[in-house]
Formats: sequence, C-alpha cells, structure tokens
Amino acid sequence: MLALKAGWLFDGWSETLVENPIVLIDGERIHTVGSSDTVSVLQGTAVADFPNAVLMPGLIDLHVHLTIGGEADPRSVMRDPEAAQALRAAANARRMLERGITSVRSLGAAFDADIALRRAIAKGEAVGPRITASGRCITMTGGHGHQMGIEADGPWAVRQAVRSVIKAGADVVKLMATGGVLTEGVEPGSPELSFEELQAAVAEAENAGRRTAAHAQGTVGIRQAVTAGIHSIEHGCFLDDAVIDQMGENGTVLVPTLSAPLNILRHGTAAGIPQYVVDKTKYIWEAHQASFRRAYEAGLTIGMGTDAGTPFNVPGENASELQYMVEAGMKSVDALRAATATAAEILSPTPDRGLLAPGRLADILVIAANPLEDVTLWSQPEALLAVFLGGKRVK
Ligand SMILES: [Zn+2]
Repeated sequence: MLALKAGWLFDGWSETLVENPIVLIDGERIHTVGSSDTVSVLQGTAVADFPNAVLMPGLIDLHVHLTIGGEADPRSVMRDPEAAQALRAAANARRMLERGITSVRSLGAAFDADIALRRAIAKGEAVGPRITASGRCITMTGGHGHQMGIEADGPWAVRQAVRSVIKAGADVVKLMATGGVLTEGVEPGSPELSFEELQAAVAEAENAGRRTAAHAQGTVGIRQAVTAGIHSIEHGCFLDDAVIDQMGENGTVLVPTLSAPLNILRHGTAAGIPQYVVDKTKYIWEAHQASFRRAYEAGLTIGMGTDAGTPFNVPGENASELQYMVEAGMKSVDALRAATATAAEILSPTPDRGLLAPGRLADILVIAANPLEDVTLWSQPEALLAVFLGGKRVK
C-alpha cells in the first residue's frame, strides 16, 4: 500500500478541488480517496506527501502518431525502415510520459510499431504511457495516410483489412473517411472510404469488440462516417448543424486536435513545412475552430487529442491542447475532463482510468498549481512534480 497526500486534488470531473486529500494505492489501482483528516493510514504504509501541490489523473491523449516526431516535413521520416520507426516511436512515447501523458490512443503507426511498443512496455523493455493502438490505419488506394496504412477498396477488402489489424493486435480501428492535410495530392474536403466501406469496417470491428475512429474533415465524409456508426470523429473540421445533431443522437464523440493546424500555421513554410501543407491548413482552419465551438455549445462529447507527431506538434508538448481548447471557448474544467474522465470513456465502455476514484488505475500527476485556474501550467516542465503510472513513480 502507498499513501499519496497533497494540498488539493482534482478528481478528473468535479469542479471543486478536494482539500488535504489522501489517495491510498493498492498495487496498480486506487483503493481509497478521501480526506487526510478522516482516512487513517496503517502503520508500515509508505507515504509520499506533496503539501503545496495538486493531485490529478494522468492526462490521456486520444490522437497521436508515435512514428513521427514533429518534423517540419514528415515525408523526411515516413519512409524510414521498420527498425528506425520503432525506435522513434519508443523515444516519442517516453517523452510523452515524462510530461504527464499517462495514456495515448495511437491512431496510425507504420509497421504496427505502436502495437509492438505497447507489448514492449508491458514487458518492461521500454518506458512509456499506456497505449491503445490502432496499428496501421485503413485507407483507400492513394488515400490519406497511405504511407502508414493498409490500402483497401470495396467492403470486403476493408473487412479483410480490419481483420488484419485485429490479428496484428489492434485495440481500436482507424479509418480514413476523407482526405487530409499531410498527404500530398488529397483534399481535406473529399470523401475517401465510401459509406459502404465504412459500414463494413464498423461491423467487422464491432464483431471483434473494437471501437472505431475515423479521420473526417469534410462534411460529406463526416456524415458518411457518422451514419456508418463510427464511434469517434477525428478533427471534424467542417461540421454542420445537421451532422452535430446526428452525432448527438448516435453518441458519436469528437476529437478536435487543434494542435495540428495551429502548429503548422505558427511555423509556416519559413520553418520548412511544405507549401501544400500550409495551404491546406489555411483552407480548413477557420472552419475547424468554428466547428469545435458549435460542437461544444451543442453539448457533444469532446475528447482531447493532439495529432502529436505532425509538424512542430512535438511529442511531450501534448498538454498544450488544453490551452488551445480553452482559447477556442471551452471552460477549463471541460478541457481537463476531455483529457481525463471523458477521455477514459472514449477509450473504453468500461473506463479503468481518468478519474481518481476507487478501482481506477493509479495514474496520477502531482502538479505545482491548480489546473482549473491555469491550463497552461504544463508548458513549464518544472510545474510537473511527479508522475505515477499504475502506482509506480516514473518521474
Ligand atoms: Zn492523425
């Protein structure tokens, strides 16, 4: 048993902090959460006390790419051989954990490097966050992300691709419903996998108990993905009111990834980002921000994702997304929920993390200030005092 004490606690959901909290940890899970004044600590229990700090759940990033690391031109590394991509994935994952990201959902990794890394971390051969992995994404021939994906055309080929990633060990299935920014020669507004292909993929994933996530930027592709039963819409740049209503009715969630366009626009071609990437980002950005606000105002479930790995969207800086969501109009408590309790519900119908509550995994951050008052505090690495993963201190 380990007892963590601190000045305050944000549990991942409540709008008010608990004062003088104590968290008792048994093995890798939380046993008790209470007040130091009422919960007694048995003799022999190890105690870690952080009197002026705040405890909160580890952050969950629902959209990362581990095999790229924020390079100005991702084409420079996307064709690297398998071993090079696996080593880069391991380094990127470790950086994220050290900056408080205790879980990631990896949505597209060449050579299924994310699945190999998840297994290596479980065996103690590598250090990193918990990984919910899609392996390679599934895209149409020449479609968005084909460099890190399986190209499949027609419902039966898509079913076979879904079976292949599940055979390889995927926890979630990533599909490309529209074109995107980083792939040369495709357009964010264009539908890609067809409705019939998406529907076949969802059926096959659900047969195996897996959830689905679709990269979807243009309105037509988003609508097809939602109608096909996709669980999470990634980016959702061009949402309209009808599709927002449909998402609400179907329980479809949105992972906006504001970090990706913002970092491209901030650095631009002067920093080496290809012209076509900057042009496409300019085309989507205003609509993307407006769609996020409309979805939030409509009460859709929103999870935090960054698209980490895209140009200057550097592994480890993932928590900047909290700041971007707040700047775009979200309340800070909702941004924090999107990265903790709500994110855990998007990962699994039976969430096991993201909340400081009995039975949940003891993935806990110790931070120097109140996150509800300052979502930018992660930009200063020294504000993160400690990171516990499954009850073990890793920073
Ligand atoms: Zn992505």
